[in-house]
Amino acid sequence: MNAIKQAFRTVSDLWSLMVGLRVTGKYFVEPQRTVRYPWKAVSTVGTFKGHLELVGGTKDPFKPRCISCGMCAISCPSGCITVVKRKPPKPTPEEEKAVAEAKTRGEKVKDQTPKDPEKFLYDFSLCSLCGTCMENCPTGSLRFSHNVYVAGYSRNDFQYDLVLQLREAEAQAKPARREARPAAESEA
Ligand code: SF4
Ligand code: SF4
Repeated sequence: MNAIKQAFRTVSDLWSLMVGLRVTGKYFVEPQRTVRYPWKAVSTVGTFKGHLELVGGTKDPFKPRCISCGMCAISCPSGCITVVKRKPPKPTPEEEKAVAEAKTRGEKVKDQTPKDPEKFLYDFSLCSLCGTCMENCPTGSLRFSHNVYVAGYSRNDFQYDLVLQLREAEAQAKPARREARPAAESEA
């Protein structure tokens, strides 16, 4: 009886070995899916959903399309977004006078305050990347970044001002733009 049990166990072990070798062999010949980070860069084009970022306008890619409507903040289930609207600029005495005159004539006074936000505060540590904010944005101002290189020592390191990030991207792009301009001018 013991001999039969032993034989079954041996067959079972051999079968497990064969299954394991088949899986190993399959992945051994497939193209490599991992990279030796940090010695090689991680390619994430179209595949990785990173933190949110603001989308710039068509004329100026560093000026957010956002109109500070707050729909994203209202719809976010995790409460990760706070949109800080711009305060209206202090009017000059002439402007105040013109507004007062327009009001006495019963005319509607147009609000001159820029629509883009002063700050766009986003807590990536709370974000579940559900995309609800993007679905509810009327101007298509939000998208997921492809940034895989995000690391921090505390939760505070994942609290971003997306307007500030756009300004920083602009500051980084400026030297490149300056270098590109003389080259383009010399070609012309
Ligand atoms: S992706 Fe989802 S959780 Fe993250 S900010 Fe947008 S709505 Fe909130
Ligand atoms: S990102 Fe979109 S939804 Fe959010 S405040 Fe700006 S325009 Fe409104």
